[in-house]
Amino acid sequence: MKVLVPVKRVIDYNVKVRVKPDQSGVDLANVKMSMNPFDEIATEEAVRMKEKGAATEVVVVSIGPQPAQETIRTALAMGADRGLLIQTDQTVEPLAVAKLLKAVVEQEQPGLVIMGKQAIDDDNNATGQMLAALLDWPQATFASKIELNGASAANVTREVDGGLQTLEVQLPAIVTADLRLNEPRYASLPNIMKAKKKPIDVKSPGDFGVDITPRLKVSKVTEPPKRQGGVKVESVADLVMRLKNEAGVL
Ligand code: AMP
Repeated sequence: MKVLVPVKRVIDYNVKVRVKPDQSGVDLANVKMSMNPFDEIATEEAVRMKEKGAATEVVVVSIGPQPAQETIRTALAMGADRGLLIQTDQTVEPLAVAKLLKAVVEQEQPGLVIMGKQAIDDDNNATGQMLAALLDWPQATFASKIELNGASAANVTREVDGGLQTLEVQLPAIVTADLRLNEPRYASLPNIMKAKKKPIDVKSPGDFGVDITPRLKVSKVTEPPKRQGGVKVESVADLVMRLKNEAGVL
């Protein structure tokens, strides 16, 4: 069974994001970019399936600018077999990503697509669900455990409000990875070297006949309000008085 893993290049999760002065978006100049953390988890899960003999090949795909090749290389160094970059400098919204991924799925015919539950740049949490709808495939989102029942079905444990839910999905299916699915490995130096020789195919959105013209307009991006400094209270009585009079919570 082939497993397809879509991986997105996003601002590294350790970077403090700066909003552009004109509030039109986020400043990307000279900012460290990395693989979306949930996509690392998805890649790790696919690689583990291959190591257990449950998957035959792990293919990673990224849609984005030329440097997204580095993101693909990271996945190849973790153990994926080959990559596909659908290269564009345009903003690609979830629906357009899902349409492109549908075209890739039709070409590659994977038995399973494992992707992140959300990309931490725009926090859309939409692409997996849209892809499942476009393909008319079963979906199991927010996975914290995936157990394959041969090549025809999988039991997926999902993190839902107030607990866990286990679904059986028929394959092929879309599964989106949550934080607790696994802990992704760091690529070893020999594997980073090996990954340099693994193939990455480069295509354009036009090669798949998909129109990626944005349909959404970002009106404004603002920073969260600055935190007010805290104060030390003298006593419990002082705390209660402040909660009553200043915070109005009692
Ligand atoms: P989102 O719906 O934007 O929060 O993204 C959910 C997931 O879709 C991500 O974790 C990725 O697995 C996948 N995805 C979104 N955008 C891209 C992209 N440009 N290239 C590859 N995969 C993507």
